[in-house]
Amino acid sequence: MTISVPFDNSYARLPETFFRRTPPTPVGAPKLAALNRTLARELGLDPEALSGADGVNALAGNAVLPGSEPIATAYAGHQFGHFVPQLGDGRAILLGEVVDGAGLRRDIQLKGAGPTPFSRRGDGRAALGPVLREYLVSEAMAALGVPTTRALAAVVTGEQVYRETALPGAVLTRVAASHIRVGTFQFFAARRDADALKALVEHVVTRHYRDAAERPDKALALLEGVVARQAALIAQWLHAGFVHGVMNTDNCSIAGETIDYGPCAFLDAYNPMAVYSSIDEHGRYAFARQPAIAHWNLTRLAESLIPLLADDVDQAVAKATTTLDGFAPAFEAAYVAGYRRKLGLETERADDMDLVQDLLDRMAEGRADQTLTFRRLGAFAETRDHAGVRDLFDEPTAFDDWGVRYHERLAAEPDAAAERRARMDRANPAIIPRNHHVDAALRAAVEDDDLAPFRALSAALADPFARDADASPYAAPPARDADPIRTFCGT
Ligand code: AMP
Ligand code: MG
Repeated sequence: MTISVPFDNSYARLPETFFRRTPPTPVGAPKLAALNRTLARELGLDPEALSGADGVNALAGNAVLPGSEPIATAYAGHQFGHFVPQLGDGRAILLGEVVDGAGLRRDIQLKGAGPTPFSRRGDGRAALGPVLREYLVSEAMAALGVPTTRALAAVVTGEQVYRETALPGAVLTRVAASHIRVGTFQFFAARRDADALKALVEHVVTRHYRDAAERPDKALALLEGVVARQAALIAQWLHAGFVHGVMNTDNCSIAGETIDYGPCAFLDAYNPMAVYSSIDEHGRYAFARQPAIAHWNLTRLAESLIPLLADDVDQAVAKATTTLDGFAPAFEAAYVAGYRRKLGLETERADDMDLVQDLLDRMAEGRADQTLTFRRLGAFAETRDHAGVRDLFDEPTAFDDWGVRYHERLAAEPDAAAERRARMDRANPAIIPRNHHVDAALRAAVEDDDLAPFRALSAALADPFARDADASPYAAPPARDADPIRTFCGT
């Protein structure tokens, strides 16, 4: 079956300093491991054609489709606080952009498609485990309603990649609003290329911040937009219990999507200082540090934009500072609003955040499961049946005091208990991609060539709020005394 993709590649029309034209490197024996049919249709692509031989060849990088203009994009970035003036797509190749049925322009990128001029010492490849991990977790985030890049397909290459051991290789097809990062701005700012910065601002406001495009001070309007989206995004991460793990500025999306699922993980027991990544030795990217780190990353964006904010540097810095100061209140507002939804509160009270913080403190102290605590609050709010939720705490009485306080607060709410329960069930997932389940699914795929557990987990994660999701084996937390799972960058 022939495959046609209506590419329209706006990034490849930018100046040549923005990218290097790089075709993917073909692989030996490509085989489809996963195809996201729903997303394919959303993009106006035919899933049948994509899963046929021509489609799999395109998804493996063995054939370049008509209209595709493969490029590796240039970017810089702060990695764990240290500036690297040139990173770039070392193993990802942008095939082009497609405008979907809703009019939204999206990048289609192959990750693990072979070396590029930015590969440095890397092989340009990806291993199957990390590819399936990104597939699972990014699609789970989408199902949870968190802005994210998406996974269209995973193809095994039939070749091995060499990390600590030989591993099966794979290519992920990633779909994103764009792959423009804070680091993309830093790349040109470091080179003092004001024309390139201007062109990048033009591109980004046209593509992601239409309101900003109307304003004379576009660069400032863009900064305001990115600050607002990142503030909302990080609040959603915290509500979901998500730890990104490697919030370097090159992994911070200008469009406000979660991007780069390397060592990420979800909390089981609530722990504000949770760190999973084996390379995050100092806990720079610990769960509760994520808002501060996002602000730090946005400050790097603001610095890059200084030449465009005003002719006078002091004035430019003042504008940037005022905008960055908007991050904390925007984050706080989104954070408390999300928790009101999770607690089923329709009205607003000044001390709602105290109520939330009291619960979170007790959860941290009592090692209560982040996801199940909120999920089970639904039943507790409706019927006062506390059995399910209090048993999640090391010392169940720690919940009881809070439960009294919560019901006093609920007494001030106007809506009926059953309606509240339904709303809470839509705000509190039963299923998240728990590390032990993800790990088991990946091990089966990599060690036993068995994709069935990956597929079953993937299906469960697609509907995390369903009433019957509570009974799913994937809703189960790890054993209380299980060792925490370490995660890796997957490079
Ligand atoms: P990441 O940790 O995935 O955000 O990657 C950081 C940088 O390393 C980016 O410039 C990547 O393109 C590059 N990189 C990661 N893995 C590889 C690899 N296997 N080959 C070449 N470049 C890589
Ligand atoms: Mg990255």
